[in-house]
Amino acid sequence: MNRILLPFLAFCAVAPSLLAQDSIQRASIERLERTLSADSLEGRGSLTPGNDKAARIIASEFASAGLKPIPGADDFFQKLPVTVVAPGLRKIAVNGLPIGEGDVFVMSNRDSLSSNQLGEFTVAYIAPGMSMRQKIGAINKQEKNTLLLIARDQKKSFDRYKGFFGGRSIDNEPQTGPTVVAVLMDSVPVTSYDIKITNRVETRFLQNIAGMIPGKRANEIVLFSAHYDHLGIITPVDGDSIANGADDDASGTTAVMTLARYFAAKGTPERTLMFVAFAAEEIGGFGSQYFSKQLKPESIVAMCNIEMIGMPSKFGPNSAWMTGFDRSDFGKIVQEASKGSGFSLYPDPYPDQNLFFRSDNARLAKLGVPAHSVSSSQIDTDKYYHSVKDEIETLDLDHMTSVIRGLAAGMAPIISGEKTPTRITDAVRK
Ligand SMILES: [Zn+2]
Repeated sequence: MNRILLPFLAFCAVAPSLLAQDSIQRASIERLERTLSADSLEGRGSLTPGNDKAARIIASEFASAGLKPIPGADDFFQKLPVTVVAPGLRKIAVNGLPIGEGDVFVMSNRDSLSSNQLGEFTVAYIAPGMSMRQKIGAINKQEKNTLLLIARDQKKSFDRYKGFFGGRSIDNEPQTGPTVVAVLMDSVPVTSYDIKITNRVETRFLQNIAGMIPGKRANEIVLFSAHYDHLGIITPVDGDSIANGADDDASGTTAVMTLARYFAAKGTPERTLMFVAFAAEEIGGFGSQYFSKQLKPESIVAMCNIEMIGMPSKFGPNSAWMTGFDRSDFGKIVQEASKGSGFSLYPDPYPDQNLFFRSDNARLAKLGVPAHSVSSSQIDTDKYYHSVKDEIETLDLDHMTSVIRGLAAGMAPIISGEKTPTRITDAVRK
């Protein structure tokens, strides 16, 4: 065997992590990010062709990285049923007066409902100055059908809610829950009403993309996740109506695909690694909700949910923060292990925003899994958030590369079995 070859083989034997580290490259990160945030995917809205395209791209990346389907699956597509409700008939009269189309919206996932019996609907009222959000939130919890009169003074908020609830809605619990009929009308004693509504209700399927690297310990799973859906087509700005979601969350999805390739190149890990791109985070988190019911929570040692790492955090480039930092020692383990990697992890600097409960980690955290989101978003000042301007040109790909490298280093002691994060015991809003 020639001499030149010998030192090279020694290099391979000694430093597989350096070789694997090479797969975390700015160029490949840019390729994945550009692919997912391209106009051709039309903002990856749930149940749209662009979303399906994204799903196929992620699955083919998992396949080419050498991942396996998760237990019980034949491929990387984890399908979940949802109910799509599109509004039909809205024929409403109060005290014998027919209500115009523009002055009514309905929240319901029933295929049809009619009533003119007082008592079958509770009558409620939102007076001028009252919070629509609070009142509607409270009504939805009541589980009773409600005829909700909303003061004309609240027309602006009324129109906003009508825009949101008046259209197609996606639900994962068909034909359950109260029906709310909201009418723009100043307060009057309701002596009679006649309500006739229909909806077009159909079952459709969303899909999580899930793959794994089997480890020596099959029942100890370390999970990396992000969500691949975004808002799709939204109200145009300067003629652009595509919400590309380059940061939200193509950056996290790119990180998941990059880490999958990185760890797959490192051989069999001690613990089993799972990589999941969730569906439907933007419309209710149906993907992570469904996923959390498919696995035994006690088998998940840690969940690192990556959400918006495209731009430097308030602590500067090459840094990120973790939600729910004080709820387990997961963050401290990552901080310690990523020392010297050029990456720094901090506790969530926006505790008032309750971000721990607002992303895909929340469902598994409620089941006791040390499940946290890692982000570098400056959520309080980010002018691109949920807009058509969230494009790849706004991202700092060097920063993003260093965050992904930092997470690869930070997660190593958990993956090797050396460290085990403490379980979450108090996943309740403080
Ligand atoms: Zn997001």
